[in-house]
Amino acid sequence: MLQNNAHTDDTPVTAPTAATPIIRESALPPLQDKFGRTFDYVRIAITDRCNLRCTYCMPEEGVEFGHKDTIITTAETLRIISVLAKIGIKKVRFTGGEPTIRKDLPQLIAGAAATPGIKGVHLTTNGLLLHRMAKELLDAGLTGINISLDSMDADRFMRITRRTGVDTVLNNIQLALDMGYPRVKVNVVLMRGFNEDELEKFTRYTKDHAVTVRFIEFMPFDADQIWGTGDHFASAETIVNNIKSLYPTIEPAPGTRTEHHIFKVPGWAGKIAVIPAFTRSLCGNCSRIRVTADGGIRNCLYSDEQYNLRQIMRAGGSDDDMIALFRKAFAEKAVDGYESKKRSDAHGLLDTTQQHRGSMTQIGG
Ligand code: SAM
Ligand code: SF4
Repeated sequence: MLQNNAHTDDTPVTAPTAATPIIRESALPPLQDKFGRTFDYVRIAITDRCNLRCTYCMPEEGVEFGHKDTIITTAETLRIISVLAKIGIKKVRFTGGEPTIRKDLPQLIAGAAATPGIKGVHLTTNGLLLHRMAKELLDAGLTGINISLDSMDADRFMRITRRTGVDTVLNNIQLALDMGYPRVKVNVVLMRGFNEDELEKFTRYTKDHAVTVRFIEFMPFDADQIWGTGDHFASAETIVNNIKSLYPTIEPAPGTRTEHHIFKVPGWAGKIAVIPAFTRSLCGNCSRIRVTADGGIRNCLYSDEQYNLRQIMRAGGSDDDMIALFRKAFAEKAVDGYESKKRSDAHGLLDTTQQHRGSMTQIGG
């Protein structure tokens, strides 16, 4: 059964004034599925490569990276955004792989921000390179940044990411705050046997830092590394209960649709959220479209089905052809992630539109 909750989107909505002309909304019907969900948020992976090798995401040797020619170009990415804006998409997130390794990131952000109808442009990054481009990204029109950091301890950070850099990431979170970045969030994949005991430390971080620390359930998109090697999964319910017992005074706070559980310690600067990414209690509220680095549409994180948008664009397809493919993909969306997974498992890999993707970098994290 689909549910809705009262969470709000974090996209700023400004009332038009005499000085800000009203942007004409698209006349085309919005992108919806047969369960009545409306999709107004696209996550675009702009690369499948990365400068880290997180044990819950990518092996040391990497994954099967797409050939350079298959990665969608700057122009193609901006075209996808403008086509989606015509059918009501309002929010864009650039992700990957590691999006900051793309030289054209400022250009992509500026292009997305300038697209009529787009009200928010966000970035998910591991934060390692942020200091090199922080001002440029902000000036380009970035309206939110999620920085992933799973441990504040140098040895742990190395164990999880197989690289050094914890201080750089912490400094770059502070830099984003000092520069006045809007909506700074810290993504923490909380895993037993890795960083579960840092729940308290990360929660305490919100005392003096105006960030939302988001504890994310570990999902089996780790390219077959640690999911099957032991009991590393910590459920959202367990995480929430542990936070409540550590900080009994926490109170509910406003958050986005994905921030299913969100709190703040009274008087503290930031917020704490818990994201049930694996237990999938978010599906009823799903508003996301995923576009992979090789230009595939994915209607669900848990589906192996992929719709080849790149092929349509490179064969000279029109905007209407692209819209038709988005509509087809979302007409076929399953009711929830469990159903998606069941369908993919039952189909096996039948044809070229189905590609099993073992890592978040290949799905469009
Ligand atoms: N490289 C960037 C980063 O790490 O923020 C963006 C891409 S990464 C795939 C996007 C998000 O997915 C990160 O917050 C990361 O922690 C999360 N992620 C990756 N693999 C995951 C997994 N197996 N389970 C849960 N979250 C995962
Ligand atoms: Fe890279 Fe992000 Fe995957 Fe870590 S989670 S390996 S930083 S893409």
